Amino acid sequence: MISRAALLYLSQKHELKDFFSKFPGFKQVTRRFIAGENIDDAIAAILELNHAGVTATFDHLGESTTSRQQAETDVREYLRVLDRIEATGVNSNVSVKLTQLGLDIDEDYSSQNARRIVEAARRHDNFVRIDMEDSSKTDATLRIFKRLYGEYGNVGIVLQAYLYRTEKDVDDALAMGARVRLCKGAYKEPEEVAFPEKREVDANFVKLMKKLLKSGVYHGIATHDERMIRATKEFAASESVPRDAFEFQMLYGVRRDLMLKLAREGYRVRTYVPYGESWYPYFMRRLAERPANVWFVLKNLLRG
Ligand SMILES: Cc1cc2nc3c(=O)[nH]c(=O)nc-3n(C[C@H](O)[C@H](O)[C@H](O)COP(=O)(O)OP(=O)(O)OC[C@H]3O[C@@H](n4cnc5c(N)ncnc54)[C@H](O)[C@@H]3O)c2cc1C
Repeated sequence: MISRAALLYLSQKHELKDFFSKFPGFKQVTRRFIAGENIDDAIAAILELNHAGVTATFDHLGESTTSRQQAETDVREYLRVLDRIEATGVNSNVSVKLTQLGLDIDEDYSSQNARRIVEAARRHDNFVRIDMEDSSKTDATLRIFKRLYGEYGNVGIVLQAYLYRTEKDVDDALAMGARVRLCKGAYKEPEEVAFPEKREVDANFVKLMKKLLKSGVYHGIATHDERMIRATKEFAASESVPRDAFEFQMLYGVRRDLMLKLAREGYRVRTYVPYGESWYPYFMRRLAERPANVWFVLKNLLRG
């Protein structure tokens, strides 16, 4: 069976999108993880989630942009998303990637672009989560995040339990009072920067989750791992952290059963809802997290 490493390698080969797109039915298969192509598709998915007691975060798919024109288009899309959230009344914030806003072109440029989105979100009384990308982007992402947090406040960061450095980054975020989304981490990282073993990543996740929950700040615990979720519930109960003092977060199309169960139990749950044309790297990372998903893809393609 194809490995996680191979799928993560393929996720960086953007040119393969055209190859895969030639298969009839492939786009349909991506719909398992991607809400659709435009804002209306995402709004429809979010309305359904909201009815089930789950909030959302919009992700307009895109990353590793090398064109200022593309970055500008993406900024405008996010400004439209913030308008539409207000107009439709859906319960959602937004998540952005800084390489989508031009981080690979110039740090200040992407910071300016992120500022436009955070500023608009503040006008709408909304919140922006800055996703974390591969470790070559961590320092720049944190620099931009800290600046915007200092200026606006309505912005949070994602930190990845697989990186050795993350405990220190969690401490820094807590010292600022900032909101963190804790996840395991989705990229291919070398042993020099990231725990190579899953059990080490899991142990670090639990350790960092405890720090976050004890801080009194509202954080997101982003995982579909039942053991991580159980550890979070147990820790919250033992420390008398109320169920509305943090939220679980999950990805669209993954463990919907678990998501609905948590919501029924009275936990806060948010779903990350991606939409748009630039689905390729995001989709491949979802396959990498569970290589058995490749069977799901093949089965559906053969059926189609
Ligand atoms: C809301 C949210 C936002 C995220 N943002 C970021 C980010 O900014 N940066 C970043 O690096 N990573 C991000 N991630 C991804 C994260 O780092 C992990 O790669 C991903 O969540 C899988 O890890 P896990 O905690 O679910 O545990 P795992 O140990 O990977 O999985 C546990 C179980 O969950 C189920 N599962 C997990 N993934 C899948 C899947 N793709 N398909 C089907 N079942 C699956 C399986 O049952 C699996 O056994 C985000 C994740 C979430 C939920």
